[in-house]
Amino acid sequence: MRSAAVLCSAVLVAPVLCAVTPAAASPLATDAATSTRAAEGDRRVGFHPLSTPATRGGAAATATRVLTTGVVAVPTDVAVIGVSWVEGTGDGVRLAYRAKRGGVWSAWEDVEVEPCPDCAAPGSSSRAGSEAIAVTGATHVEGRLTAGVQATRDPRLAIIDPATLGTTGPARRAAGAPASVRGGVSAASLAALAPATQAKRPAKKTKNTVKAIPVPAGLPGPRASMPSKRAEWRASETSEANSVPGTAPRGVVVHHTAGTNSYSRSQVPSILRGIQRFHTQDRGWADIGYNALVDRFGGVWEGRRGGIGIAHRGAHARGVNEAYLGVSYIGDTNAQPATQEGVDAMVDLIGWTSARYGFEPSGTLTVNGASKPVVAGHYQVGNTSCPGTDLISRLGDMRSQASTARADYLAIARSNAGRG
Ligand SMILES: [Zn+2]
Repeated sequence: MRSAAVLCSAVLVAPVLCAVTPAAASPLATDAATSTRAAEGDRRVGFHPLSTPATRGGAAATATRVLTTGVVAVPTDVAVIGVSWVEGTGDGVRLAYRAKRGGVWSAWEDVEVEPCPDCAAPGSSSRAGSEAIAVTGATHVEGRLTAGVQATRDPRLAIIDPATLGTTGPARRAAGAPASVRGGVSAASLAALAPATQAKRPAKKTKNTVKAIPVPAGLPGPRASMPSKRAEWRASETSEANSVPGTAPRGVVVHHTAGTNSYSRSQVPSILRGIQRFHTQDRGWADIGYNALVDRFGGVWEGRRGGIGIAHRGAHARGVNEAYLGVSYIGDTNAQPATQEGVDAMVDLIGWTSARYGFEPSGTLTVNGASKPVVAGHYQVGNTSCPGTDLISRLGDMRSQASTARADYLAIARSNAGRG
């Protein structure tokens, strides 16, 4: 149990008078007693003041600083949950959740929250909120907001059942089949990453004024991991996802997602569909926010359309989405260290990306007038503890290993080009 448990129990025994801003008028702003259920199995549940012994039976004015969803049922296999609220409100608010498995509640877990106005889909507005939280094997969850709740407008907990999403998409990779290929460049990895793929993509609906960075002649695909393309996780291919403008990345931001570290290979596509659903339907983004994701088995997945091979502006770190691609480890490295397989895959991904776009993983760049690492932990460009204690402790090693990987890729590229 970490800090949230202390915070919540401290608040529980010392409720403080404060007003709770009413939820904004919205068909989705509901009490916990009622909730909406969309055709595809999404639910959105509102928050209400926590009833405590001090407030029970008292006047309505004795609201506390704690807002709760109450106990909410979730699908049992793999669900993705997350909280969002009106952008520009909720400064300083803190979010925690717990999950019930086998009749036993987990400890309260802190969840990072971040506004991101520049993450909005073109022509629309975003909502502030949490990362998407993968929850496996749970029957119920509860979300709580503490501190700053007075100013948090229209908070909603989304409960997404990924099994109900994308059922008409292409067949998934067989359960348990590894997503990685080691020891050589595969044609499939090139197909997933090479610029030639761009010609096969649907035409963009927005004018892209970004000057594409040329691909080094002879550059192979990434060696360690063959990115699993969006069709394999049955991504929702919408006009918004196809309209994200291109970008010329100068670096990579390393993230972790939120939620469970206890997921199987076969659950990864569901987790990705759930994250995409939360990012698009609740945060108001055009597509899944990360450009690529890495699972604990070392599998690499195309995130936002184009992945790392065809850079589109991501939605992953406030204010720096133009400069950085976002890659995320699926899991919570505060709770459990990242796996070596996952870290190795991420290093290879960063090494290849830096060879592709011509940046040096150990270098620095200037963004918004400040000097930042080319390979930055999210916490180095935002007010967050992402990518968690374990990945933060490894960033230095990851940069130097990615530099080596980059040099190897460029040497292969020179050799290939020389032969050509
Ligand atoms: Zn992050």
